[in-house]
Amino acid sequence: MKASARAVVIGGGVVGASVLYHLAKIGWTDVMLLEKSELTSGSTWHAAGGMHTFNGEANISRLQKYTIDLYREIEALSGQSCGLHPNGGLMLAATQGELDSLKLICSRARYLGMETEMISLAQALEFNPLIDPSHFIGALWRADGGHCDPSGTTQAYVKAARTLGASVERFTRVTALEQRRDGSWDVHTDKGSVHAEHVVNCAGLWAREVGQLVGIELPVLAMEHHYLLTEDLPELQGRAREIVNTTDYPGEIYMRQERGGCLIGTYEPHGIVWSPRHTPDDFSMQLLPEDFERLAPYFEVGFRHFPALGRVGIRKAVNGPFTFAPDGNPLVGPVRGLRNYWVACAVMAGFSQGGGIGLVLSRWMAEADPGQDILSMDVARFGAFATPKYTSIKVPENYSRRFRLAYPNEELPAARPLRRSPIYDRLKTAGAVMGANFGLEHALWFAPPGMPATETPTYRRSEAFPVVREECQAVRRAVGLYETTNYGKYQVTGSGARAWLDRVFACRIPKAGRLGLAPMLNEAGRIVGDLSIACLAEDEFLIIGSGFAEEFHLRWFWQAAPPADVQVRSAASTLAGFSIAGPRARELLEPLVRIDLAAGSFKLFTARRTAVGLAPAILTRAGFTGELGYEVWTTPDYLETLYDELWDAGRALGLVHFGGRALSSLRLEKGYGSFNKDFRPDYTPGETGLERFVDFSKPGFTGRGAALEERARGPKRRFVVMEVAAADAEVVGYESIMKDGAAVGYVTSGAYGHCIGKSLAAGYVPTALAREGARFEIDILGEMRTATVHLEPLYDPQGARLRS
Ligand SMILES: Cc1cc2nc3c(=O)[nH]c(=O)nc-3n(C[C@H](O)[C@H](O)[C@H](O)COP(=O)(O)OP(=O)(O)OC[C@H]3O[C@@H](n4cnc5c(N)ncnc54)[C@H](O)[C@@H]3O)c2cc1C
Repeated sequence: MKASARAVVIGGGVVGASVLYHLAKIGWTDVMLLEKSELTSGSTWHAAGGMHTFNGEANISRLQKYTIDLYREIEALSGQSCGLHPNGGLMLAATQGELDSLKLICSRARYLGMETEMISLAQALEFNPLIDPSHFIGALWRADGGHCDPSGTTQAYVKAARTLGASVERFTRVTALEQRRDGSWDVHTDKGSVHAEHVVNCAGLWAREVGQLVGIELPVLAMEHHYLLTEDLPELQGRAREIVNTTDYPGEIYMRQERGGCLIGTYEPHGIVWSPRHTPDDFSMQLLPEDFERLAPYFEVGFRHFPALGRVGIRKAVNGPFTFAPDGNPLVGPVRGLRNYWVACAVMAGFSQGGGIGLVLSRWMAEADPGQDILSMDVARFGAFATPKYTSIKVPENYSRRFRLAYPNEELPAARPLRRSPIYDRLKTAGAVMGANFGLEHALWFAPPGMPATETPTYRRSEAFPVVREECQAVRRAVGLYETTNYGKYQVTGSGARAWLDRVFACRIPKAGRLGLAPMLNEAGRIVGDLSIACLAEDEFLIIGSGFAEEFHLRWFWQAAPPADVQVRSAASTLAGFSIAGPRARELLEPLVRIDLAAGSFKLFTARRTAVGLAPAILTRAGFTGELGYEVWTTPDYLETLYDELWDAGRALGLVHFGGRALSSLRLEKGYGSFNKDFRPDYTPGETGLERFVDFSKPGFTGRGAALEERARGPKRRFVVMEVAAADAEVVGYESIMKDGAAVGYVTSGAYGHCIGKSLAAGYVPTALAREGARFEIDILGEMRTATVHLEPLYDPQGARLRS
């Protein structure tokens, strides 16, 4: 074994093998993989090898396509077959909701360059004659995907990596990780030590334990999973083509051909967690005992939906464990506080995702940037709230829903409520229908008295639609209160704070008493944050951003290495607040404050430490609705008192609660994009329109060079808001934007604009097409709808109400 390597990859499953290959390919040829047993000996060896491009997140879908396309490359490089069966796939639906979701997949697939099509059940039978069509109402066919040989694929990665210079040590267990002062690692194994600049945790079933070697608790847990292999089926004899891989949503079953028989697997509702506390050290290439009694009812559904399978014997049953994160997406990236420590674990679809994970992680390690938006598999989407108990509740929930379609308006119930603001109970009493963001409950909309505070999951307009309309109209007519506690909040203090912020943010850092909109860029000039900065004193700043990105932004701040004279703290749990928005907002606040709120003295983007009623507070004039608006921040112990006082002051003025749904509608009427949905690390200042907040005259901020280049060149595409001729459903996100039959862009978010009476979609189209009145088409649930660009905000284009 070599004594040193640039990077050590821990774990020789399909994910570690892919990471090794991609690191070698990007030029880090001095890399080493350490595997405690035989390659593939965790989850990998007994996988069913299914591969597909389907994922609710377009960027993950794209990486899945990359993975599948990659197999030919590594076969050619290594001379090792991946055992590919690129048969394509079918997805079957039995309800209107499932059918809608398949149509959404089709609408999204066009821009992703994936061949998919809604087909009739008669056509589906040509691809898979084993289906009993009486159980289904529709089907989607996709050309991509199929299945591969798990061992062959892993070996192909490793052999290809070796041809590029990488080395592999089997039967070498990593027992300890020790960090040196320079950030490099001594990787101790049962065969000696290796000194490495970087380590990557690809330990699959043992990712938790390898995390514990450096003192972190990764939110990852293994579930048992069963599939069956049948005897040969007479129905398949003599067929020229294999049947295609078939996903049966109503049955929560997947099935495919395996030689002359079939493989059938199920994601049952009450899955079993495997090794909840500690993964046994000596587990390797073992299967778990079968549990037919528990699983019989679920496989029986499969035998009804594919009757031929029930007429032959079972040749073999496989029960094996594999790992999940609480939301089912992988955990990838660097971990805050740990230099040169990377994770690529909780990969539950290694044969669809392994290649893409290797690609982005290798770029991240070699180029300090994953090269594209991968927020939805970034390990930083979880924070301290993802405790081992949270993980132990959410992972089984996710497993049980693996093949259940997720509706865009659906909120999953497990491990909730977790984080609660002090006014949680008051909001519930007011009818709040809650969602969870970064573990924190927040109001989506408020059911009026007599209406149940629940919502039917649907792709179309729900019972919340008229209620949200009332909320929006009341904000624009009088005044509304929205709880902002779920925003990301950070306090930056110290004599060096301004200079550090100047380097980290692309905007001009506001003077004392002012607030500024604050884009944050990476070196490639892409948007990693769209925040606001309030300067409360020359050495004291309050930064507000997206709640879901709290850990992501904290990691970004940590990587930006604040010097000794700068302190950066999360205020997630130490500040809580409200947005007060609407033409009567000033009237409401005036009796509660001692400062002059007149338009001339407390202008838009003023920020002040003051008191609001009894509560010491930070008051800013800002908001996201396009109306006269204020944000009030206080410590959580004052929040209930503040809430009561605001209500007492506002009742006579027509004060209403409004929730996240109304906010989405109000902001799109104003053409405001939102980080997470519209502004993500794929886009640039020029594309998003955030360029106007970039201070190009400022030297040395991160991403300046790339942003200047873009400014000189002009953006390739632009963020636009479109009015959509929709019927009973709005866009959800990632639908393709079509022009003359070709996909030219895609949707990032949508909402009904209740105060302008139009369905709205936001998204990106090529700059040349981003003209006032330009017309496109968007497929919403199978119907092509005209979408017309409006370059000016549809509501109050001059911003008179905002400045009033
Ligand atoms: C029954 C079943 C069916 C499945 N079907 C599919 C499918 O059809 N399609 C699909 O994409 N996925 C499928 N999967 C999931 C798939 O198996 C996983 O996504 C994949 O194997 C994860 O690979 P990995 O490399 O992350 O982890 P693992 O395969 O668990 O590999 C981790 C490796 O790390 C090594 N290791 C751990 N700790 C140490 C240490 N301290 N020192 C050195 N080495 C260490 C282990 O020995 C192991 O080899 C299935 C899983 C199961 C159980």
